[in-house]
Amino acid sequence: MVDLQGQYQGIKEIVDTSISEILESAAFINGPYVHKFQEALENYLGVKHVIPCANGTDALQIAMMGLGLQPGDEVITADFTFAATVEVIGLLRLTPVLVDVEPDTFNIDPKAIEKAITLKTKAIVPVHLFGQAANMDAILEIAQKHNLYVIEDNAQGIGATYTFKNGEKKKTGNLGHIASTSFFPSKNLGCYGDGGAIFTNDDDLAHTIRGIVNHGMYKRYHHDVVGVNSRLDSIQAAVLLAKLPKLDSYNTARRNAARKYNEAFKEVSSIITPVTNKTCNDICDTCDCHVFHQYTLKVNGVDRNDLVAHLQSKGIPCGVYYPIPLHLQKAYVDERYNEEDFPVTNQLIKEVISLPMHTELTDDQIDFITASVIEFVNK
Ligand SMILES: *Cc1c(COP(=O)(O)O)cnc(C)c1O
Repeated sequence: MVDLQGQYQGIKEIVDTSISEILESAAFINGPYVHKFQEALENYLGVKHVIPCANGTDALQIAMMGLGLQPGDEVITADFTFAATVEVIGLLRLTPVLVDVEPDTFNIDPKAIEKAITLKTKAIVPVHLFGQAANMDAILEIAQKHNLYVIEDNAQGIGATYTFKNGEKKKTGNLGHIASTSFFPSKNLGCYGDGGAIFTNDDDLAHTIRGIVNHGMYKRYHHDVVGVNSRLDSIQAAVLLAKLPKLDSYNTARRNAARKYNEAFKEVSSIITPVTNKTCNDICDTCDCHVFHQYTLKVNGVDRNDLVAHLQSKGIPCGVYYPIPLHLQKAYVDERYNEEDFPVTNQLIKEVISLPMHTELTDDQIDFITASVIEFVNK
């Protein structure tokens, strides 16, 4: 699904040099690379504070701790996403409220958010799923009307640009009150181990969070709040610092691959290619609202599982993200949920398939993959 080895070859010299420098200096934790990367990412995103941490799941949890959410507070998020989002809501004894998504973008449906709001609702967590910004105009409007926090889960969307209805453009992760991301190796900006970060423009919140990631310490050995231990190490920061200047070109490579896939499937009626301009309010001509963390098709009138088996038999990796809605996962079932409230997710789990997507895909590989898909669906 990804080719990390090929990508490494393009940055090998700088990565190897900085890693050996770290080995020589032994500044493994909180070394200068962590600070350099933090600043570089603040500049790239246009956000005031980046607080690095150990992974994207921690980042979400720490964001919710930083906002002071309390047990029983309701947090609305999408039913169709990776479980990390709902997991940390549960860990903090907050109440997850899962809602349905939009059939074309796979992102949280603002109408479903609005329906789920109660007096206990405190926050909305939109996930920019597969690399495409959620409908933030609508989500921010709802949040403002009901006085709710917006926590963006930007683990799959780093580098995407959202264009507001008024034409203003901003990077995802800089759209709500606070955001989280992951630097897991296969993410669009990935390190060579685990890593994550929290973003915010709020000075007080940033201060609170810098203490939370470090055992609740604002002064050495003074523990003012219950915190966690969540750090990005120097080696991962050095890898990320080497990759960050290339992030835009990496995302362009992904978009080019997506365009070639789209072109090949244009005439195939049983395949629905990703919708890319809806959340840019149709005024985005470059579609930079989508950074294609995944290239996800929907199939229509074709058995998706048989297609997966067919591609696997040809040595083509593919993925089903996600095969089970969160509201049906054992850990998260809740009697408040009604099946009629999740028509889109319940359908998507049967139809979606993600094809290989990374920065090193060649035209020959794409031709082979698309020919193999078409061969199966036209059979
Ligand atoms: C990857 C991912 C996470 C978790 O990130 P980790 O670094 O693996 O903890 C959270 N949310 C989404 C949407 C993700 O894709």
